[in-house]
Amino acid sequence: MSQAISRANSEKLFQKAKTYFPGGVNSPVRAFKSVEGTPLFIKKGDGYKIWDEDGNEFIDFCASWGPLILGHNHPAIFENIVKALGNGTSFGAPTALENELAELILSRNPFIDKIRFVSSGTEAVMSALRLARGYTNRNKIVKFEGCYHGHTDAMLVKAGSGLVTFGESSSAGVPEAFVNETIVLPLNNEEALRACFAQYGKEIACAIIEPIPANNGLLLQGGEFLHTLREVCTEYGSLLFFDEVISGFRVAFNGAAEYYGITPDIVTYGKIIGGGMPVGAYGAKAEIMGCVSPDGPVYQAGTLSGNPVAMAAGIAQLTECAKPGFYQDQEERTKYFIDLINTHAKSKNYDFELVSVASIFWFNFDGKKTITRADQINPDMSKFKQLHAYLLNHGVYIGPSGYEVGFISSVHTKEVLAHVAQVINAALDEIYA
Ligand code: PMP
Repeated sequence: MSQAISRANSEKLFQKAKTYFPGGVNSPVRAFKSVEGTPLFIKKGDGYKIWDEDGNEFIDFCASWGPLILGHNHPAIFENIVKALGNGTSFGAPTALENELAELILSRNPFIDKIRFVSSGTEAVMSALRLARGYTNRNKIVKFEGCYHGHTDAMLVKAGSGLVTFGESSSAGVPEAFVNETIVLPLNNEEALRACFAQYGKEIACAIIEPIPANNGLLLQGGEFLHTLREVCTEYGSLLFFDEVISGFRVAFNGAAEYYGITPDIVTYGKIIGGGMPVGAYGAKAEIMGCVSPDGPVYQAGTLSGNPVAMAAGIAQLTECAKPGFYQDQEERTKYFIDLINTHAKSKNYDFELVSVASIFWFNFDGKKTITRADQINPDMSKFKQLHAYLLNHGVYIGPSGYEVGFISSVHTKEVLAHVAQVINAALDEIYA
């Protein structure tokens, strides 16, 4: 066990931040509530490395929660941002850069004909839910327990008891009336799905799902449940809504739809699409997108939507992602990393497994169990806390919660990954000693 890193400067900044922001942060998970110590204030990132305000250096697997698939400060993104900045930061009028990013996406994407850029994943989901309702003239929405879709009111809902339940709001400030039209179903449960649609099918505007649920552990559904969901939606005339804010441009250029070969009716993107700048997007076939204002009656707008600097960052990043072999290479390096750790854990008979898909991974401290639903996760996060502390003290930065996934970026070379695998294996030896 090495010495704990110094956090003196981060601690000072955090004390100050607490006087400005609720919990000292501008997004809750940053507050380190479920791990030990104060949050590290990050000063700088370059490639696979980040540095905090105390000068500690880390190999980063948080990647700003997914957007940075090329790592920090990628030269092509930097160059494009600077070029765009030279022309001004925002005009509130169309720019050629919006066309360029749209062309980059739509020319490769067989699932959507048109797209609309917004400024966050939450905003994309909020807008697309309105579109689904406006297009179908139906009000009810099906969501799945364990999937996160941003903090729009209708999505801040938890399951009630029973197989098919109307949700209860999971946040103060969300009136029950706002979630009354949201039905929450368990993931990977065909019986509950069919029962729900048999009862309410003709009132359901859409079923929204993270096709690769990655906000509550990594709850891999495999293709089968998703194919059934596709069939059921088609049968009842409900839209299948893939929230690909994490999986889009991450598991394949066209996200989980491409990865599993399933055609959704409506899709949201975020994170990677903006190259580290605030961008979200929603898209669908032309007929559905024809309902969006000003072509149709579904209103949606944004002062900074399609912001030129953000578009420039997205263009640079997606240009790299679209290069032949990009995703195979990502997957190959991830598999190399995962195998080094899982082989070790297995040889020692630890109850641990790194669960992964493409370049996403999750620490499962119930490793002998296959986990496909939120309620199957062991709520005891004490081993994760130990791991988190060990990794920070050994130069590895991961998201500060056992329910969060990690991300491999294109800059994580095999050499770096082999080193980190060694660190993780040593951490496991200590945790399970
Ligand atoms: N949907 C999914 C699947 C997400 O993972 C997230 C964010 N983690 C969101 C929506 C919300 O995106 P944002 O934080 O950009 O509002």
